[in-house]
Order: sequence, then C-alpha cells, then structure tokens
Amino acid sequence: MIIRKSAAEIEVMREAGRITARALRIVGESVRPGVTTRQLDRVAEEAIREEGAVPAFLGYNGFPATICASVNEQVVHGIPGDRVLGRGDILSVDVGAIVDGYYGDSAFTFPVGEVGGEAVRLMDATREALSAGVAQCVPGMRLSDIGDAVQRVAEGAGFSVVREYVGHGIGRAMHEEPQIANFGPPGRGPVLKPGMVFAIEPMINAGAAAVRSLPDGWTVVTADRRPSAHFEHTVAVTETGPDVLTVE
Ligand code: MG
Ligand code: MG
Repeated sequence: MIIRKSAAEIEVMREAGRITARALRIVGESVRPGVTTRQLDRVAEEAIREEGAVPAFLGYNGFPATICASVNEQVVHGIPGDRVLGRGDILSVDVGAIVDGYYGDSAFTFPVGEVGGEAVRLMDATREALSAGVAQCVPGMRLSDIGDAVQRVAEGAGFSVVREYVGHGIGRAMHEEPQIANFGPPGRGPVLKPGMVFAIEPMINAGAAAVRSLPDGWTVVTADRRPSAHFEHTVAVTETGPDVLTVE
C-alpha cells in the first residue's frame, strides 16, 4: 500500500528535505583532493545535528555512518573511512535526515577537482535522468512512467541502468512502498495521486549494468569496475505536479 501524506505531513518532510539538501551542499563544499570520506561524514553529521535533526542512515540496518560515500566504480552504500579522495575521482554522497519522525533522502555525485570527460557526461546524464523521472510525478501518470523516463535519458546518453537497487516511497519510514525501478516499460503500476512521496534515485553506470557486493556487506560496485553516478531527490506528487522536497 502506498501511504499518502497530508499537506501538514508534507511540510514536515519539506523541513527534513531542506536539512538533507543543506547537509549535501555543505559536504559538497568540502569535497576536494586530499580529504577523506570519513572527514566528509563528520561534516555531514554536524550539519544535520546543528539543525536539530537526526542522521537517517546512522545505525540503519547497522550502517555505521551518516553518509554513504561511493567513489568511482562504487555504485551505492560505500562506507566512509580512510580513503583519500584524489583529483579525477567522482564521489557519490547519499544522505538522509529525520525531523519529527519524517525522513528526507537525497544523493549527489561530486567531481573531485577536475575530472575526465566521460565522468562529466555520466554525472550530467544521471542528473538529467533524475529530472526526467521527477517530471513524471503528476497525478494520473503510472508508477513505471518514472523509471521509463529515467531509462530513456540514461540509455540515450549511452550509459546503463542499475537494476538491483531502486527508489522507494518515503515518509515515517525511509523505505516505504512502492519500489521505484529506474527502467520501464511505461504505463504499469499504480496511478500516481496527490500526497504520494517518492525518493527517486537513478544509479547509472558508464559501462555495463551488472553490479557486485563487496565483502564488507555494504559497498556495491560495478562488475566491470567502470564508474557509476547516483542522484536522488525526495519528491511529493501534488495536484499541480512534482514538488521536490530535498532543496534549500
Ligand atoms: Mg538516499
Ligand atoms: Mg533512497
């Protein structure tokens, strides 16, 4: 069942989204060659706590940090640690915050210094794919129209869509129904209605779609070890169309 939120609930989620977006921005301002992913994790935790919110990922299913920090071939769920970022890396940061029991969830892939042309194209295409998915969040559209729009942009740019990890409903839990695939076909699944809130999060690979999990039990990498990008917004469906909540 897809839980629809009231206008008052969406306003609380907008605050969680604002704090999430702010944390992501502040982390991004600290991304540079020489910084470790653990340092970025501390920046994120402080940014969330100083707003009176709670880091959503810390302790979630035992996850040990505030952010997921996934470098280059790492797709999602990378654990912050001693890895030093270098010029030319790309870093996907996924972060969430809880306000009064409601969740915000957002991700962004940052370049570390100057990066190569393929990495730039991959990041741009993934961000554009997210925008295309968000644009489907209009009453009367069907759930799989979101993934279809994402897939068209990603594959149109010559990249591939990760199948094993998907977006999700969000509200008083980080992961609510439905699961939101990043691929079509269009016109399937529930009809979108006002009050539905989704975390839409394309994970797009430069090479093949296949992924593997590392022995740490968390980190997901591309099977061919080519780079991957990840962008995510929390979005409410309203009468007038998409309302992106993870913005400042
Ligand atoms: Mg996320
Ligand atoms: Mg998510």
